[in-house]
Amino acid sequence: MLTEVPLGQKSLADYTHIAGRGLIERIRELVEPLQGRSVLHVSATAFGGGVSEILYTVVPLMRDVGLDAHWQVILGREDFFNVTKLMHNSLQGDPQAIDDEQWEVFQGYNAMNAQDLEGDWDAIVVHDPQPAGLRENALDRARRWIWRCHIDLSTPNPATLARLEPLITGYNASVWHREEYIPADLDGGLRKIYPPAIDPLSPKNMALSPEDAAFVCEQFGIDTDRPLICQVSRFDPWKDPMGVIDAYRVVTESVPEVQLALVGSMATDDPEGWEFFHRTFRHADGDPDIKILNNLNNVGAIEVNAFQSQADVCIQKSIREGFGLTVTEAQWKGRPVIGGDVGGIPLQITDGVSGFLVGSPEEAAERAIQTLEDPELAKRIGRAGKEHAREHFLSPRLLRDWLELFTELGV
Ligand code: UDP
Repeated sequence: MLTEVPLGQKSLADYTHIAGRGLIERIRELVEPLQGRSVLHVSATAFGGGVSEILYTVVPLMRDVGLDAHWQVILGREDFFNVTKLMHNSLQGDPQAIDDEQWEVFQGYNAMNAQDLEGDWDAIVVHDPQPAGLRENALDRARRWIWRCHIDLSTPNPATLARLEPLITGYNASVWHREEYIPADLDGGLRKIYPPAIDPLSPKNMALSPEDAAFVCEQFGIDTDRPLICQVSRFDPWKDPMGVIDAYRVVTESVPEVQLALVGSMATDDPEGWEFFHRTFRHADGDPDIKILNNLNNVGAIEVNAFQSQADVCIQKSIREGFGLTVTEAQWKGRPVIGGDVGGIPLQITDGVSGFLVGSPEEAAERAIQTLEDPELAKRIGRAGKEHAREHFLSPRLLRDWLELFTELGV
């Protein structure tokens, strides 16, 4: 059997006051004929990154409303995750394609995991490219197969996409963050656009008092009487933490007391992470006002919450981004957010209204200075961001989307 991810309990009723009665009633209505349906989610890892963040909430909510929902992760070793990382980069536009030998590794692990896939499911939802090959090796395990893509496939390396596409076309449906991410020549299956969502009641996003947020940040050496800029994200070139450091350096010229926190967990399926972490560390050049933290410093959900809540400005300066959950997370905390104008970030930020969109470290710095120097602006942007997050990107909406798809597919 693949490894089952242990999950906590969640109750949809708890979300009524945040998401609105109408949405909760719609979910109850949709799920009525789906009671007891078995749905398995499969992903590459249960730790680090947006996919696991989403599944830790959506799967318990599916259970709460009456589905027999599960989440399992595939088994992979370093050789497999080296290939899938390369594949991920290549699918997001990196010129380096994967070669035949690497493709063999990918196929081999998918075939092996397919053998370990047990059960007789009404639907299996496969997340991202890593386990995309399960379906063709385990067809009779589910009546419906859905592929959920969390990355931006709009400008892929064609050679790598050509390997992946035949695997995807066999799925009954595919789900994407944005229309633009669907490869132009992709055949077959129903397509849906369901952007991700955050859980407003999880430890990462629940309301934290300013005192508690400050207390937690102080444990990491942050001076809570001075302004703080923060980026929460994996140490990955696409997230551009070096660009954030460059932006911070420009900000210090106008706001010398500013501090920067780069908070980044290390995902188990990301072998490049450590190397890039060290490069980022070197780029900070020993500046005591730059705190670079990861999960090995005990940065968990509450700490991320505290940093995002405490920050005067949150940044997500990605140069490619499937969605960027951290943007909505920070908006939900009422923080002004500066995001790279790429991928899923413009879905979350209307420039100058619910945040700022930028294309360079200089622009990020300019917006950060403006926000730090104008508390009224910061408040206005923060409020608008929070309302945008509430309306579009909270978990009950995503649960509804899934139920609509299951209904349409006759799961
Ligand atoms: N995250 C975290 N700790 C960290 C860094 C990131 O918990 O040190 C979380 C972050 O809060 C968000 C997710 O990991 O919930 C990252 O999702 P996003 O969509 O921003 O990016 P991805 O990592 O999926 O590319």
